[in-house]
Amino acid sequence: MSDEPRGPGSAGTGEPPDDGRSAAGEIVERARSVVPGGAQTGLRAQAFDLGDVAFEAADGATIRTVDGETYTDYHLGFGPVVLGHNDERVDRAVREELDRGVLYGAGTTPLEVDVAERLVDRLPSVERVNFCNSGTEATYHAIRLARAHTGNRKVLKFEGCYHGWHDYVDVSVYPPADRLGERHPESEGMLPEAVAATLVEPFNDADAAAATIREHADDLAAVILEPIPHSVGCLHPRESFLRTLREVTESHDIPLVFDEVITAFRHAPNGVQSELGVTPDLTCVAKALGNGYPVAAVGGREDVMARAGGDHESGVVVSGTYSGHPSGLAAARATLDVLDGGEIHDHLTELGDRYREGLADLLDDHGIEGRVVGHRSIFAPQFGVTGEPRSYADVVGLDGERFRAFAQGMFDRGHFFTPNPYKRHHLSAAHDEATLEQYLDDADEVLAEL
Ligand code: PLP
Repeated sequence: MSDEPRGPGSAGTGEPPDDGRSAAGEIVERARSVVPGGAQTGLRAQAFDLGDVAFEAADGATIRTVDGETYTDYHLGFGPVVLGHNDERVDRAVREELDRGVLYGAGTTPLEVDVAERLVDRLPSVERVNFCNSGTEATYHAIRLARAHTGNRKVLKFEGCYHGWHDYVDVSVYPPADRLGERHPESEGMLPEAVAATLVEPFNDADAAAATIREHADDLAAVILEPIPHSVGCLHPRESFLRTLREVTESHDIPLVFDEVITAFRHAPNGVQSELGVTPDLTCVAKALGNGYPVAAVGGREDVMARAGGDHESGVVVSGTYSGHPSGLAAARATLDVLDGGEIHDHLTELGDRYREGLADLLDDHGIEGRVVGHRSIFAPQFGVTGEPRSYADVVGLDGERFRAFAQGMFDRGHFFTPNPYKRHHLSAAHDEATLEQYLDDADEVLAEL
C-alpha cells in the first residue's frame, strides 16, 4: 500500500516540467494532439472534467498521477480490480507464467484447462467455456452462438443494460428521456439492420418482456441482460422478472444470456446467478475474473457451446489470436483461487453496506435529495432522484450537474471516481475502515458545499 493515500499535494515521484505546467497538463496536451479526444475511450475522457487526469501507477486502494499525487481509487478501471491494485499473488502468477512463454496459439494449454475447470465448477450455468479478451467479445460470441443454435436473428435486451460496443447490443444503454421505449443506437456508424434486429424493453417489466418474446419467438435468437444492471448504478431485478424470462425463453428454447461481466467474481464466487436463483443458458464474464488483466469468457450449456467447436466450414467461428492468453489466464487462476473461501466477498459486502449507509445518512443530514444505490462492493450516489430504482426510467432524471460537483469536491480531497453520474463506485479487498472514514469525512464537507 502507498504511504499516502491522500490527495493532491501529497509527496510523489512525479517530476513537474520546468515551465511551471503540471506533468499531467503536459501529457494531456500531447495526448490531445495524437489521440482523438485525448483518451482511449470517450468514457475515459470524461475524467478530464475533473482537470488534467493522467495516472502512471497504482497500488492497493490507491492510484497515483504523473505529478505524484495519490488518490483513493473507487473507479478501479471500471471495476475489474477486486483484490486491489497490483495484488502480489496475481502479479507473481502472471510473471511466472510469462517467464515460461508468452504465446503458443495451437492446441491447448494446462493453464487454460485449469481456468476452464474453475469456471465450470463455479458458475451454475457453465458446462463449456471459451476464452476471449474483453466483455464485448464475450457477448458477441454469445449472440452468434445463440443465433446459430436457434437459426433466428433478433435479440431482446433491456434499457440501461450495457453489453459492449458491438452493433448487436450497443442500443438503448443511455437513451435520453425523450427516447425511452425506442431503439436508440449509442454510436454513429452502426449498421441499421443490426439495430433493427435488436429489440428493447424496460428492465424489470416481466409482462412487456414476455409479450415481446412470444410475439417474436419465431425469429428471436437470444434474451440478454445484466442480471443486476450496474451500467446505470444498480437496478435490483424483481424475482418475478427473472423467473418470467427464464420460463418464457425456456418454453421457446431461446437462449437466456446473463452478462455477468461486472457481477461475476466481484459479487460472488459463483456469479450473481447463484444468489438470484435463476440459471441462464449462456454467461459472459470478464472484469473481476482477472483483477485487471485482460481476460473474458463465454460459457454455458454444452449443446449450445458445442457449436463453437467447429472449423471454418462448419459450426460457429469463435476465434482470436490472443484468446486464452497466458497473462490473462494466469491472472484469472490466481484471482479465482484468492477469492476462494469467501472472506473477501464478506469483507466487500460488509464494507459496501457501511459506505452506502454512511453516505445515505449524510444526504439526509444535509437535506439533499438523492439516494445511494448498490449491491455488495458497488455503490452509487444519485442526486435528485429518490426511491428504489427498478428500471432505467427511474434513473434517467438524475441530477448530473450535482453529481459532477460532488465528484470534483471529492477529487480535490483525494478520492477518485469517474464524474459520469450514471456510473458507480467500486470497492476492493484493499479498501478498509480507514478509506471508509476518510471518504465519509470528506463527503460530509463536500455535501455541505453543494
Ligand atoms: N458487459 C458489461 C455489463 C459491462 O459493464 C461491460 C464493460 O463495461 C461490457 C459488457 C463490455 O466489456 P469490455 O469493456 O471488456 O469490452
